Parts: sequence; structure tokens; C-alpha cells
Amino acid sequence: LFKIPRNPPPTLLHPEKWCRGFNHFISQCLIKDFEKRPSVTHLLEHPFIKQVHGKDMSLQKQLAELIQEQQQLGSVAKTRRPYHVDGADKYSLDDDLVNLEVLDEDTIIHQLQKRYADLQIYTYVGDILIALNPFQNLSIYSPQFSELYHGVKRSSNPPHIFASADAAYQSMVTFSKDQCIVISGESGAGKTESAHLIVQHLTFLGKANNRALREKILQVNPLVEAFGNACTAINDNSSRFGKYLEMMFTPTGAVMGAKISEYLLEKSRVIKQAVGEKNFHIFYYIYAGLYHQKKLSEYRLPDKKPPRYIDNETGKVMHDIVTKDSYGRQFEAIQHCFRIIGFTDEEVYSVYRILTGILNTGNIEFAAISSQHQTDKSEVPNPEALDNAAALLSIGSEELQEALTSHCVVTRGETIIQTNTVDKAADVRDAMSKALYGRLFSWIVNRINTLLHNTENGMNIGILDIFGFENFARNSFEQLCINIANEQIQFYFNQHIFALEQMEYQSEGIDATTVEYEDNRPLLDMFLQKPMGLLSLLDEESRFPQATDLTLVDKFEGNLRCKYFWRPKGVELSFGIQHYAGKVLYDASAFLEKNRDTLPADIVVVLRTSENKLLQQLFSSPLTKTGIFCIALLTLQHLQLPTPPKLFVFQVDTMEVMRHPEETTNMKRQTMASYFRYSLMDLLSKMVVGQPHFIRCIKPNDGREALMFSHERVLLQLRYTGILETVKIRQKGYSHRILFDEFVKRYYYLAFKAHETPLGNRENCLAILEKSKLDNWILGKTKVFLKYYHIEQLNLFLREVI
Ligand code: ADP
Ligand code: MG
Repeated sequence: LFKIPRNPPPTLLHPEKWCRGFNHFISQCLIKDFEKRPSVTHLLEHPFIKQVHGKDMSLQKQLAELIQEQQQLGSVAKTRRPYHVDGADKYSLDDDLVNLEVLDEDTIIHQLQKRYADLQIYTYVGDILIALNPFQNLSIYSPQFSELYHGVKRSSNPPHIFASADAAYQSMVTFSKDQCIVISGESGAGKTESAHLIVQHLTFLGKANNRALREKILQVNPLVEAFGNACTAINDNSSRFGKYLEMMFTPTGAVMGAKISEYLLEKSRVIKQAVGEKNFHIFYYIYAGLYHQKKLSEYRLPDKKPPRYIDNETGKVMHDIVTKDSYGRQFEAIQHCFRIIGFTDEEVYSVYRILTGILNTGNIEFAAISSQHQTDKSEVPNPEALDNAAALLSIGSEELQEALTSHCVVTRGETIIQTNTVDKAADVRDAMSKALYGRLFSWIVNRINTLLHNTENGMNIGILDIFGFENFARNSFEQLCINIANEQIQFYFNQHIFALEQMEYQSEGIDATTVEYEDNRPLLDMFLQKPMGLLSLLDEESRFPQATDLTLVDKFEGNLRCKYFWRPKGVELSFGIQHYAGKVLYDASAFLEKNRDTLPADIVVVLRTSENKLLQQLFSSPLTKTGIFCIALLTLQHLQLPTPPKLFVFQVDTMEVMRHPEETTNMKRQTMASYFRYSLMDLLSKMVVGQPHFIRCIKPNDGREALMFSHERVLLQLRYTGILETVKIRQKGYSHRILFDEFVKRYYYLAFKAHETPLGNRENCLAILEKSKLDNWILGKTKVFLKYYHIEQLNLFLREVI
């Protein structure tokens, strides 16, 4: 049973790595043991183990931990494979769907289901990782696991999210190239958790000497998520913004900084939430925190009833705050995050005042006053709310009232003051709250970037965690934006996995099987094309003062004549879209208003007078984003493609929006649609610079239940994400295509002497490939075509040679 391998792996003989070698060895034993007996504890009874156990304290401890981990993991040992000395081992059948002989939906789903029952939540499809949400805490993310997935061959361990992080990290260090990890999946599928785990492992891998920096980086996600996440019908911690986190490393691979870009915060949540949903976490944290610290009165908040913006389930919030202390504890955690990252006390205090200022603003009410001359006038029947809000925002109460209940109109050089109706005043109040929160959020993100940014030259790994596809009972403008963003990410995935690959085969004269896939480009065109795409039509209609949501839907119907759009009969404000991930019915109420996203100039003027320096800064100049052009142009050269693929043509189409829309609009004419378009381009331009790694999160059931595997739900997600096609193309295709010159530069050690400088030509590539004894590769006209597993083998050989 415990036969020592005939050629013991070198790591076993190396004292420092002995433990790791032993782990592998134990695994081998476990696998055999498992075949015969159901329990791992039998291992401890074996005479061999008993013998070693008694002599070595550290082994005793290690073994106990290993056993504990393995017990918790259930069957992890089943798939942990024996150590191979020659590096020629193939992926185990279980771990990689590409190894399946029969490639149909049933087989794939059966495989995933079997693995899920064994709590094997991760599975490879070639170089892509599928992650099934376990809906329970697994003890597979401890430091021991980090150690296990550190610079070793992927096939040495079961599939794991740490292995994907490690692959990106190794690839960055080896080739000095930026990397990009794209995490996708429906809302609640596990994207945000996966992003955390990746940051955790990358921080471990890029062991910075600077412990403080590591600590700071680990606090970024909790802080940003307190402000950007909220409880929805699907997920208690749903991301209401898209996040691209770049971790920066020195050329030798030590963490040296981080930078976040945020996209499309769902600001409307500040003022209103759907039934069963909540506002952004931070509002509850701060209210509860101040309640327990008995500081509510200092921030002019009532202690009997929470402010209106967070009280949509009357009574429930207060009950939770009084009876449970979890919100309060979260508030302390956030204070800790602010401190660790390096915000000053003054800044944090200003943030709290703005947050509580928003909560107080929400309590301002309006009532109509009818006078002889004017019928459209409104006043504030609860002036204390107005005073509270003004006090916290450090502005004059009268000025605030003015700005809420009236507005200036400039006609023919004359300024006229017009009064606001009750509804209009309430809209202005809510627009102000949204703007305050949106700008505060961007400021926090920018501040984190300044505190963690490092201007030294280095490389980075970007991690994209964008809000997932959503299809609720009622879907509004926010869902449309979220779903278009997902449509774009799917397109990016398709481009990388299918389109670029097939284009290159053709241009390199390689005869490879083409795999059919669902191209969502026409649908994306329907949304983004100018001037007749859905977003352009929306912008056009938003410019007409007389337009209504109904005229908007009419306009869509009249112009979007394609199979992806339809209008159900009998529901006036409704329209349907056939997304790549399924049919969604949208309710167009308030689309125009949400798109216009206007913040009256009167409000801006008042807020600029604030004595709160931070608030003043938020409204002093429009936020700018720079450098977009350069990045986009760089991108065009980046992939060295024979002809620019559609993705980039599409980028050129929309270049116009990249011309800093915020700067040109004077904060007036910037619609959500144009900002959205711009954000999407900004995001893409960042992503395409790096070598992509894909993680596909799958939600095994809608009830958030552990061990529940809904065949139907998983099948649907596999279908629309194109997993089946991905398996095929990864099995047949060549995922790595390297120019001759670069290939020789990277691997010449394998066939040439160190001092030689071989030319980057076909012959030398051939020499290297033959020497490395790989099979199944192809030489094209200018590039070497390799399977996804070749790279790892070549790198391993390289490490051995060097
Ligand atoms: P998404 O970002 O895709 O909407 P989340 O990452 O927020 O989804 O995950 C939703 C919930 O699922 C989490 O709050 C957590 O309870 C659970 N979850 C997701 N991934 C894991 C994991 N790897 N281990 C344990 N629980 C997880
Ligand atoms: Mg999320």
C-alpha cells in the first residue's frame, strides 16, 4: 500500500519541500485507501503511519490537519493524483471536461453533478475554470491550501480557484506580461467570493515584504463592498457596481500596489428599493453603529424610526438594529478598514456627515401651497428635516430649500425663477441624494487608489467582478444596463475562445475544425450601434422635453426591427429582449428620467458652498477619466492580429464617446446611456491589454441551498455560456499561439546553449519543440500553435533546465 515511488520526486529529497512532497505521497496513499475503505481515519491506524507519527511532532500535527481538512472536504483525496516525476501525466478524467470522450450535455452535466455531490466545486475546461457555488463554507482556502497551490503543476492538485490565480501569476512573472482574470456568471453565482479568493491568493503569492501593504489590499474589498453592495432578492450581498481591481507587482512578482475602477453604480438604490430588497449596506451599518454608540443625535438622526431611505420594510430594520448587533459590528469593521487603508480621521468624519446628510435629505417632505398667482408651488412641511440635512451637509438651510423648491431658467439672457411642483421638488431631492452618493463612492474609490497606487513600473493582474445577468419579476433601466454589460463580457469571451482562434487558423493556413457557437454580436449591435441602436434611440428620446416612456417604447418598436426585440401585447410600457442568457421583459417606466439623470444646476451651486471640504470637492469639478484613447490604440497593436477582429472595429465605432463625455457636458447633458457606453469601453480597453483567464461561476440552484444541484438550472447556464462549445474547442483547438520569434526567445534554453542567440524562425522553433518531446503541436506560417497543457509542460522543462 505504501510503496515508495521507484524514482522519488526531487522535492521529496529536498528538506524544505519535503512536506509538500509528503502531502502528495499521503494523497497517493489516501486514494488507494479510499478504494478499499470508506474512512480516512483508517490511515492513522496503518503501521507505517503509526511508526512515522510517533517520531515526528510536526508530522503529527500536519497529518492531523490534513486528515481534518480531508474529512471536511469529503472526497478531495479521491482526485488528488499521485505525484509524477516525468511531468508527462495527463489531467485526470475527473478534473477536466476536455478529457471526456463523449461530449454531450448529459455527460458534462452528469460529471459536474457527481463532482458537486463530492464537494468538488471546481472543474477545468482546458484553461477555463468552472466554479459551482457551494452555498456553504468549505475549508479549502486555508494557508495550507495556498501553500499547496504555489508554483506547482496544475495537475498535481485538484482544480481550485487558487490554481487559476497561480496560473495568472506564473504567467505574469514568466513572461512579464499583464494578466486579466474575467469572472462571470449570474447574480449570486459566486463571482464576488471568487474575486476575494483570488486577491487572497495573489497577496499570498506576491509576498510583499511590506506587511502593511498586504493588510491594506485585503481591506479594499470589504470597504468598497460596504458602499457598493446591497441585499437583493437573489443575493444578500449583491454587487451593485462593476469592479475591476488591478493588483500591481514588481518585475520579480512582489505585490506593490492596487487600483480599482468602478463601473455603473446603481445609484437609484439610494432613494428606492424594490420589495424585499435593501439599500446599500453602509447606510444600515452607520445607522446601527451610531445607534449602539448612542451618537444618533450628533448626526441628527431619529432613534425611534430609521430614516425613510432605509425603512422600506417598516419596522423590520429597527427591529434588526435593536435586537441584533451584526450591523453595528460591521460599522466597526468599516472604521477599521478606513484606518488601515490610510484615510484620515477628518476624511472619515466627512464621509459620515455626507452619509447621514443623505439619510436626512430623504426625510425632507414637500406639500403643495396654492396661492392666488401660483398653483405649482411647494413648501417643506417638516422644516426640521431640512435643517438637519443642511446642517450635516454644512450648507444653508434656506438656500437648500430654495434649490429644492424652485429652479432658474435662462431665456434670452434673462434669468427667471420658476417654482417646483411637489413631485418635481421630490425628484430634485432624490436626484441630489443620488448625486451625493454616486460622487462620494467615486471619491472613496479614487482615494483608495491614491493611497495604494504605486507609480513604479511593474506589471499587473486585473480581476473583473461585474454584476451578473439579472432577470427579476420587474426589470428596469438598471437591469437593462447590467444585462448589456454582461452581453459585452460574453462577447469578449466568445472572441477569445472562438473567433480569434478560428481567424488565426485561417490566416496561418491551418486546417482546424470549426466549432459553431452562438455569436451575440448582432444583439450587441442592436444595443450599441449608432444612430439606430437602443441606447442611441434612448438618448435621442431623452432630448425631447415632451417625450414620455410610452413614446420611447414606440420608438424602440418602430426602429428595432429584429428578432431579439419584441413588444408584448396589452402591456404598454413593456418590451422584451432575447438576451444570450434568456428572455427578459423590461418595464420602461421612468426610463427617460433615469437616463437623463439630471442634477439641477441650482443644487450644484448650493452644494459647492458647503463648508465641508470633501463635499465641496465632490462638486467642484466633473470627474474625469483620462488615458482612454492611448489604451484603446495600444490594444489594436497588442494582439498582433492579421486583421483587427470585430471587437476592435466596434471599439473604433464608439471612439467618439471616449472623448471624456463628463468634461464636455457641464454636468448637464450627460445621460446614463452615454456614460454607460463610455464605461463599457473603458472597461474593455483595460481588459484587452492583458492575457485573459476565464472563471465561469455557476449557480447550482435558486434556493441558495448547499448540495442542491438543479439539473435544469445548471444546464441552462452551461448552454448560454457556451460551455459545451468551449469544451469542444479546447479539446480540438490550440489555445496558445506564439510568434516564432517570441517562442524562441522564451524557450531557446531547451535546445540551445545559454550564450547562443538563435534566430526566431521556424526551424529553431521546430528544434525546440522536438527537443522537448511534446506532441500535437502545429507550426503555422508565423506562429507556433500549442494546446493549453503544452505551456505548463514547457515552463516546467524550462525551470528544470535553468
Ligand atoms: P455574485 O457576486 O456572483 O452575485 P457572490 O459571490 O456574492 O455572488 O456569492 C453569493 C453567495 O454565495 C455568497 O454570499 C456566499 O454565501 C455564497 N458563496 C459563493 N461562493 C462561495 C464559496 N466559494 N464558498 C462558500 N460560499 C460561497
Ligand atoms: Mg457580486
